[in-house]
Amino acid sequence: MANILDGIKLSKQIKQEIKEEVSKFVEKGNRAPHLSAILVGENGASVTYVDNKIKDCQAVGFRSSLVRLPETISEEELLNEISKLNIDDSLDGFIVQLPLPKHIDQEKIIMAINPDKDVDGFHPENFGKMALEMDGFLPATPYGIMVMLERYNISTEGKDVVVIGRSRIVGKPMSILMSRKGNPGDSTVTLTHSKTKDLVEYTKKADIVITALGVPHFLKAEMIKDGAVIVDVGITRVDDSTKERGFYLAGDVDFSEVAAKASWITPVPGGVGPMTRAMLLKNTMQSYTNNIQ
Ligand code: NAP
Repeated sequence: MANILDGIKLSKQIKQEIKEEVSKFVEKGNRAPHLSAILVGENGASVTYVDNKIKDCQAVGFRSSLVRLPETISEEELLNEISKLNIDDSLDGFIVQLPLPKHIDQEKIIMAINPDKDVDGFHPENFGKMALEMDGFLPATPYGIMVMLERYNISTEGKDVVVIGRSRIVGKPMSILMSRKGNPGDSTVTLTHSKTKDLVEYTKKADIVITALGVPHFLKAEMIKDGAVIVDVGITRVDDSTKERGFYLAGDVDFSEVAAKASWITPVPGGVGPMTRAMLLKNTMQSYTNNIQ
């Protein structure tokens, strides 16, 4: 049976470290770090995500603020709001909760964010810095996975890594980070997607498999080799009338059978998700220390 990469436990530890760091700065007379979020519309999942981000800020002693805007806001008005936050010196970072309403061009919005305040790490400047191994903000989910591998001492040097999924926010940056020099990193990475031929040929040889496709229970035991490390990013709501909420959260990995063969595995929920949340705080802390020094 595989060991568990416990994202709940580790994220609590990281939040505790951030909280202690914040206290030290505040005791010296500095202001607290400040994260802001822009939320457009009333999308249920987005409201929950933003609420959680605000709670996380409170838990570590950050100041937080929320800019709530109607679903009907025009692109120009939203760009105006972003301009205000871009030049607000009291803010260390802000996020624009995605997805945005269809009439708004997401790319244009991301491009408008000041890269120095882009604590989601979505701006192309930060993406480019990541690829070039320069300092910048890393996107939270891949960052969280890197920290998890590091803290659990998972060896990555020279390992064969297969990433399934090539999204901008998870798969693609993940593949770049694992192939960068350093620890974690120094891996030989294969980035796969829906057009990959014979995916199993790759996953069967991989020392580490990172799934980010959003297809529940996709990765089966026969697709991996004995002792592989499995990181499951997927979170999909699957209808289930026996549950109080009417659904359960499924990962991309068929957990019970894959766990029996793997050496390490992340559960869903309780694996990558909590790490993602903690990394937004870590990026904000990084921006804060840049700002006050
Ligand atoms: P996405 O934009 O939904 O893209 C999915 C990717 O998977 C695409 O690259 C797609 O290939 C690939 N794919 C789909 N079906 C495939 C198949 N049968 N075989 C191989 N590749 C396949 O991805 P995302 O936004 O990264 O989200 C992926 C999952 O992670 C979702 O469940 C999402 O909810 C979850 N997620 C979790 C966290 C967290 O904190 N835990 C954060 C972000 C996302 P093509 O490019 O060819 O279409």
